[in-house]
Amino acid sequence: MKKLSIVIPCYNEEQTVNKFYEEAQKFMKLIPAVVEYIFIDDGSRDKTLEQLRKLADQDSSVHYISFSRNFGKEAAILAGFQYASGDAVVLIDADLQHPPSLIPSMWEYYEEGYDQVIAKRNRIGEKFVRRKLTNLYYKFINRLVDVTITDGVGDFRLLSRQALDALLKMTEYNRFSKGLFSWIGFHEKTIEYDNQLRIEGTSKWSFGSLLNYGMDGILSFNNKPLRIAIYSGMGITFFGFIYILITLINYFLHGVETPGYFTTISAIILLGGIQLLFLGIIGEYIGRIYYETKRRPQYLIKEKK
Ligand code: UDP
Ligand code: MG
Repeated sequence: MKKLSIVIPCYNEEQTVNKFYEEAQKFMKLIPAVVEYIFIDDGSRDKTLEQLRKLADQDSSVHYISFSRNFGKEAAILAGFQYASGDAVVLIDADLQHPPSLIPSMWEYYEEGYDQVIAKRNRIGEKFVRRKLTNLYYKFINRLVDVTITDGVGDFRLLSRQALDALLKMTEYNRFSKGLFSWIGFHEKTIEYDNQLRIEGTSKWSFGSLLNYGMDGILSFNNKPLRIAIYSGMGITFFGFIYILITLINYFLHGVETPGYFTTISAIILLGGIQLLFLGIIGEYIGRIYYETKRRPQYLIKEKK
């Protein structure tokens, strides 16, 4: 019999882990496979770990890994994937925003031969502003990155062993799963589901962390921002030359022209801004190189079962 591993990152999910487990159990019976649960406690400060210990005592198919502190969802995903022993894995959130009822049909597609079965949510019930902003972000990011990133496609998906091993071969420190999933390719199938609101607790995303996440998406997949810097540099230099030429011609035709305060100040401010912006971009890349070269572990385990 084949084995299915369910990987669930949890950060402060004391209110949801039990509900998740009960809900998931209902549907696991429908799958003709041995199921193992791998919960990753990403350094929760509440009673998540206690709940997981209890679950693991009751049910031998429940395993957990507990981090020494909060390392972020990407690290939790990586740990779960590394510890999964199944022929396929499902990555799913603990807050039931990813309905476990989809897992049996994901499994069916896996049996049909798909390597990635992706669950895509529509955005019904979400705030208008957030919907619009995400929409814009995806339009923008797809212009910038080499891989295609689709709106509504999150981390909820099934991966075959082959796809999973491919993913694990990418050992980079700065992980941007959305991009990595798309980068590996393989035979993909997308299924849709209705947007679910979180059952308990709150989302861990603040506007700032979303912004940072967006930045990661752009910067961790290619060097287009650096290209943009080069082209803007060329453009600005070109206009600079033209301006100098015009000024010179003026000088020979009409003599010295004194007022120049406004043009000088605007040039300083504008060019200063552009230079800082691109220095920042270069800095981001250097920072990434810095983190990669340190080769630090992506997470530290405090306890596991
Ligand atoms: N999560 C995690 N580490 C973190 C933040 C979140 O493991 O640092 C988990 C969280 O417990 C949940 C999933 O990642 O199972 C998605 O988090 P959340 O619901 O906050 O994000 P959203 O659904 O709003 O995108
Ligand atoms: Mg959520």
